[in-house]
Amino acid sequence: MNSFDTISVIEGNIVEQEVDAIVNAANNSLLGGGGVDGAIHMAAGPQLLEECRTLGGCPTGGARITRGYRLPAKWVIHTVGPVWQGGNAGEDSLLASSYRNCLELAAIHKIRSMAFPAISTGAYGFPPDRASVIAVTTIKDFLQNDDLLSDIRLVCFSRSAFCHYSSALNRIIGE
Ligand code: ADP
Repeated sequence: MNSFDTISVIEGNIVEQEVDAIVNAANNSLLGGGGVDGAIHMAAGPQLLEECRTLGGCPTGGARITRGYRLPAKWVIHTVGPVWQGGNAGEDSLLASSYRNCLELAAIHKIRSMAFPAISTGAYGFPPDRASVIAVTTIKDFLQNDDLLSDIRLVCFSRSAFCHYSSALNRIIGE
């Protein structure tokens, strides 16, 4: 699969994306929080929280899948990104692991289109210039061994996030 055609960066609200799966930047409890997590639970309705309660949480860097309920997306893939602690506490590899585990769940469920938020760059404080490079690189590497995913959107909630992620995409995929 050609990653240049597959990966796109858009400015928008992830809950509105008409894709097979949206990714939630959750916390370890998977029982709801603020930011994108709050927006996804609000839009999906209370059944999402009911299903999340059955999962027993998720480690940092891991991912879990649920139904999407009232969302346009059929699935929600919940991942827990690392909290930024200055950059020397394994944050880079944990963030890459979040993206990779989401992509692996997508492959298992034969998902063709999915949307990621800018994992860890909100309340968790990961610098977006560094997070965006990890996001694009990890997705690009995964696509080398995948032939089903054909639409991966990096959904940015602000103009500045959009600038970081599109610049990373142009630099890394343009190479
Ligand atoms: P984290 O705890 O992983 O940092 P946050 O939800 O605080 O998660 O933020 C992650 C990113 O998601 C931030 O860039 C934030 O601006 C963005 N975000 C918040 N709400 C939405 C939304 N509805 N759609 C897309 N992105 C969102």
